[in-house]
Amino acid sequence: MKHIVQQEYSVNKTKRNRRNGHGSFLIWFTGLSGSGKSTIANAVEAQLVQQGIHTYTLDGDNVRKGLNANLTFSPEDRAENIRRIAEVSHLMIDAGLVVLAAFVSPYAKDRETIQKIVGYTNYVEIFINTPLEECERRDVKGLYAKARAGEIKNFTGIDAPYEAPVAPHVQIDTMKVPVASAVKQILKAIENKLDIQ
Ligand code: ADP
Repeated sequence: MKHIVQQEYSVNKTKRNRRNGHGSFLIWFTGLSGSGKSTIANAVEAQLVQQGIHTYTLDGDNVRKGLNANLTFSPEDRAENIRRIAEVSHLMIDAGLVVLAAFVSPYAKDRETIQKIVGYTNYVEIFINTPLEECERRDVKGLYAKARAGEIKNFTGIDAPYEAPVAPHVQIDTMKVPVASAVKQILKAIENKLDIQ
């Protein structure tokens, strides 16, 4: 951008990672509403904190109440929602945190944007693959009933698409895998990223 010069600071990501004793990166949970993203992200974070890892969780509902309160669920606003979250994640990675992000993030293009913003090696994609019927049966927040009744428009799985990831780092079928096993799989997948090179 014109007239903007990147400032170099002497305390950088590498130094913060060394001080913390672990690497920093983004664990991105994608899947339908009610699939189990927040539940699993929460359990993963609890384990990480127990290991002395510095973490932060970004959650769809919370971010939409503040930073992204002016955005709708149109495809354009969903893209902007994700772009801002990715930029915030990027700052947090730079700050030395392991960032967990639980967002439906239904469009492959938007998930590609996240990787570009945070850097490919800083991105771990977790696909919480729970069938729509099961998410609708759980209807944790009563949103599917509202979407079926036409009270909510552009609801993913009902009248807006979900583009499933083709090559996620980890895929969890919550119909078969209990939360504790999902956590184990995810911890295994991030082991090398937690180590400082
Ligand atoms: P999301 O964040 O994807 O919208 P939530 O985590 O809020 O979904 O809700 C998922 C619901 O599914 C919770 O009520 C959770 O207890 C339930 N659930 C049942 N089995 C599982 C599982 N194996 N993994 C994750 N969640 C599960």
